[in-house]
Amino acid sequence: MSDPHSPRPKYRRILLKVSGEGFSEPGETALAPERVRALADQLRALHGEGVEVACVIGGGNILRGAAASENGIRRATADYMGMLATVINGLALSDSLESHGVQTRVMSAVDVHKVCEPFIRRRAMRHMEKGRVVVLVGGLGTPYFTTDTAAAQRALELECDALFKATQVDGVYDRDPKAHPDAVRFPELTFQEALQRRLQVMDQTAFALCSENDVPVVVLAQDLPDGLLRAAHGEPVGTVIHNG
Ligand code: UDP
Repeated sequence: MSDPHSPRPKYRRILLKVSGEGFSEPGETALAPERVRALADQLRALHGEGVEVACVIGGGNILRGAAASENGIRRATADYMGMLATVINGLALSDSLESHGVQTRVMSAVDVHKVCEPFIRRRAMRHMEKGRVVVLVGGLGTPYFTTDTAAAQRALELECDALFKATQVDGVYDRDPKAHPDAVRFPELTFQEALQRRLQVMDQTAFALCSENDVPVVVLAQDLPDGLLRAAHGEPVGTVIHNG
């Protein structure tokens, strides 16, 4: 097992995807300040080790386009509402990080210039090089996509060494661990194995982008103490999916 506090993390630049669920208590819409603070704490530790981080923020705790469109809102409008939901979560994370002494920049793919910068690739890279945590909101700025796909795309465009997907489950299992207590967690998988076993790692577009472009994906529990730091050092937390 590697020392989580050794000076050389395995991954120097990480794209972290945090879904909206990570900002609220289970089944709730309201922001849960304790959860946001705990996430900010983990990011501060990662940042303290010199790891460059960009976070793609989800909005599913507030609104998901597909679900909202079932209630009569046009899908494209519902998706824009979902993108705006990610802005709310992202601002909460940025605020919490800043109050922990970590500099951030919130960058949005939808134009909300009163509250954050537009996403510009080179500027985002520069922020990370200067030690700022970049909080990416608004997904890709396009309806009919998810923030998983945005995370994979930004991981590529920002030349990240890995995509960390922080979830409410501590990795990828052979079956749904909530329905099957005897489900087995995989410490490691190839993209091919995940595909053959039809394991739900992330949406298909995101999965294909990571697999085709050789970006390892680390699925881990958001609430695992020091989880992000340990994963950055290559410790076997969660499930690592790679090309073998
Ligand atoms: N969304 C979108 N385009 C994007 C990213 C997100 O239209 O590029 C919308 C979509 O409606 C989605 C919602 O924003 O349901 C919130 O994102 P997501 O469901 O991915 O959040 P998460 O499940 O990670 O909380």
